[in-house]
Amino acid sequence: MIDTARLLDTFLAILRIDSYHPNEDPVVDALRPKLLRAGISLWADPHRNVLGYWPGTGAKANREPVLLCAHTDTVRPTPGMEPVIRDGAVHTDGSSVLGADDKAAVAAIVEAVEAIAAEGVAHPPVELLFTVGEDVGHIGSKAFDVAPVRSRLAFIADVDGPVGGVILASPWSETLLVTFRGRAAHAGTEPESGRSAVQMAARAIDRMRLGRVDAQTTANAGVLTGGEESNIIPACAELKLQVRSLDEGAFGAHRAHLLECCRLGAEAFDGGIEVESVNSTTGYRFTPGDAVVRRAQAAIRAAGLTPRLATSGGTSDANEFNAKGLTTAVISVGYLDIHTNQESMPLDELERLTRVCRALMLGP
Ligand SMILES: [Zn+2]
Repeated sequence: MIDTARLLDTFLAILRIDSYHPNEDPVVDALRPKLLRAGISLWADPHRNVLGYWPGTGAKANREPVLLCAHTDTVRPTPGMEPVIRDGAVHTDGSSVLGADDKAAVAAIVEAVEAIAAEGVAHPPVELLFTVGEDVGHIGSKAFDVAPVRSRLAFIADVDGPVGGVILASPWSETLLVTFRGRAAHAGTEPESGRSAVQMAARAIDRMRLGRVDAQTTANAGVLTGGEESNIIPACAELKLQVRSLDEGAFGAHRAHLLECCRLGAEAFDGGIEVESVNSTTGYRFTPGDAVVRRAQAAIRAAGLTPRLATSGGTSDANEFNAKGLTTAVISVGYLDIHTNQESMPLDELERLTRVCRALMLGP
C-alpha cells in the first residue's frame, strides 16, 4: 500500500536539500537508509550517478528487470527554500524553484519501493538510476555507461503534463556557431579591398528557411555578432543557429540547408566560413506498438489512469540513453510551472505518479 504521509515526508525532505549541480549527493544520501532497508544495493559511477539493484522476489524473481530513473539536480539553486503546502499542492516559498522537477519523481520511485517491500508482493528485478546534472545539459546521462544496466527497458518520469502521459518522440537538435571570414579595410578610403563578413552573414540569413519549417522541424538564427566600427569593413561575423526536428532525416536535411546558405552567403562576397557544433542532442521516435510504450501504457492503466501519447519539443536524459542503446520512455510527472518560482506539485498527482511507478516495478 502506498503510504501518502510517508510519500509526502520523503518529498519534503529532499525538496529541502539544495542539490543544484554538482551538489546532488545529499539527495541519495538522505534516501539511502530507505533503499537499503528494502534490500536495494546502491553504487555510484565515477560521475556520481547512482545505480541501484533490487533482486526480484517470488514468482517474478526471474522475470526481466526494469529500470526507473529520475534526476536529483534542480534547474537552479534552492538554498533555504522551505516548501509550503497549500490547496492540496506543495509550493515553493517563492525564493527559488521548488525542485519538483525532478524530486517528485525521485520521491515517487522511493515510495513505490517502500510500498512494494511492505506489501511483500512478488516483483521482478528492479534497477533504479538517479542521475546528476540533467538540467544543466544532461551531464550525468551523457557520461553514464549503460553497459552494467541489466534492464532492456527504462522509464524516466520527467516531463510536464498530468500523470498518464507517455512521450513518443523527442527532437534531434543542434546548435551551430558559424564564423564568416572576410577582410578588413577602411570603409571610406579603400572599400574595394574589403570583404564584409557581416554582409555575408546577412545574405546567408536571408536565404534561410527559419521558424517552423514543417510540422516536425524548427530553425532559428538566434545570435549575430560582428564588426568593430562603422568605418571598418568587418572581417569577422559570428552567427549562432539552432535546428530541431522530430524526424532525423528532416533534421539532417535542414542542417545541411542552413550550412549551404552560409557557404553561399560567404561565397557571394568572396569570403569563407568555419563551422563549430556547440551542442547537439540525438532524438528518438517510438511507435505506439513499441514494447517500451506498451509497457508504460499498461502501468498507467494498472494505476487506474488513462494513458495519453504525446511528442515533446524538449529533451531529457532519455535522449542520451536511447542514443546509447538503452530503450527509454519518458512519462509525465504532473508538476506545474517548472523552472519558475511558482513551481508546484499537486499531492494527488504525486500519489498517482507513485501508483504508476509501483505498477512499472511490478510489471505485467
Ligand atoms: Zn527535469
